[in-house]
Amino acid sequence: MSRHLLQIEGLHPPQIEAMLDLAESYVLLNRSGKTQRDLLRGRTLINLFFEDSTRTRTSFELAGKRLGADVINMSVASSSVNKGETLLDTAATLNAMMCDLLVIRHSQSGAPHLLSQKVDAAVINAGDGTHEHPTQALLDALTIRRRLGRLEGLTVAICGDILHSRVARSNIHLLTAMGSRVRVVGPPTLIPADCGRLGVEVFHDMAKGLADADVVMALRLQKERMGGEGNARPGGNPVPSAREYFRFYGLDFDKLASAKPGALVMHPGPMNRGVEIDSAVADDPVRSVIKEQVEMGVAVRMAVLDSLARMQRRNV
Ligand code: ASP
Repeated sequence: MSRHLLQIEGLHPPQIEAMLDLAESYVLLNRSGKTQRDLLRGRTLINLFFEDSTRTRTSFELAGKRLGADVINMSVASSSVNKGETLLDTAATLNAMMCDLLVIRHSQSGAPHLLSQKVDAAVINAGDGTHEHPTQALLDALTIRRRLGRLEGLTVAICGDILHSRVARSNIHLLTAMGSRVRVVGPPTLIPADCGRLGVEVFHDMAKGLADADVVMALRLQKERMGGEGNARPGGNPVPSAREYFRFYGLDFDKLASAKPGALVMHPGPMNRGVEIDSAVADDPVRSVIKEQVEMGVAVRMAVLDSLARMQRRNV
């Protein structure tokens, strides 16, 4: 495995499996209320978020602290980036401070990759543009594996705005590598033209796309990316209205009825209730595992920090 975590694409099943196994041990540790503060003692973790985040930033912070790292949250809103500093100058500055682990979220696909070539720290991609969000896919996989006991042979329907979703891309790479059958379901304007190349089946109808699915994942309409990078219709609105979108693609109990009776409902958050998912489905205590995904997020990020830090130790 590389000394950074920049993407899921290219990871091999045993590497994914090992990360999930390690994360599993952290789920148990977190539930027991214990910490392992000696593990990353003396290490510095910088959270560098150029885009908004609630779950990802907080869980990286919590993960770092539970393992004993010194965690610094750099808020871009109050940093020199606002004074025109380039990403590379910011990187050089952080590098001079001898940071060990650098978590970055950026609106430009490829920004973490660029950073990884310029700093000594292990770089972790916390979401870059429409490219990837590797720790989200790992936490989704852990949630599914814990609930259904496996990933292989499952049918997973990923629904909604696939085109602008880094979550969809990372999940597609991970789940197909692990032997799941992946379907993407959404309007033609929100499905990338080259989707077939990724080894998924494409559906434009929810009833057909969800038929006998084991897992249904709803995605937010990523309005902030529409009209920009990766958009099939630059400047155009790919959906007529939120109301109409909900009628055809919003996950409600009627549409969910096509999936397997015990199918899991997932969403990476933030949710737009009444747009891509109905509140009754999102809050259903039996079908929805959305809160569990958040819990798994902390464990997965502990596992990622732990394994990248171990690799650094070996390289010293
Ligand atoms: N939180 C996820 C991301 O950063 C999904 C979303 O924003 O809709 O990609």
